[in-house]
Amino acid sequence: MAKTLFERIIDREIPGTFVHEDEQCVAIKDINPGAPLHVLVIPRKPIAKLSDASPGDQALLGHLMLVANKVAADAGFADYRVVVNNGAGAGQSVFHIHLHVVAGRPLKWPPG
Ligand code: 5GP
Repeated sequence: MAKTLFERIIDREIPGTFVHEDEQCVAIKDINPGAPLHVLVIPRKPIAKLSDASPGDQALLGHLMLVANKVAADAGFADYRVVVNNGAGAGQSVFHIHLHVVAGRPLKWPPG
């Protein structure tokens, strides 16, 4: 299987700006930020999308949420939004699961 874009960033084959790294995941700045803070929390395990996750991924998915909180807190944001786009019809463009952490501007609801 070819590596995903995010695996290539994790492996330093293409550049990324890392704001967090641990044994389970990384967090990088989005290349096309939609807000002053726009970070992607990405597991090292290349699950293609949330609907491909299994019960065995439960702890990993919880870890990603806690890292999302840490990334926002480290950047000084108490209020933030976490988004997972699942499938092309929901806006997913990179098929390696990731959490968007967005903050620093007013965020409307529902999202577009
Ligand atoms: P999705 O549309 O799959 O939910 O989110 C993919 C995100 O990855 C987009 O927000 C897009 O800007 C970001 N992205 C795409 N290519 C790159 C890249 O090469 N580097 C980084 N840091 N972000 C990327």
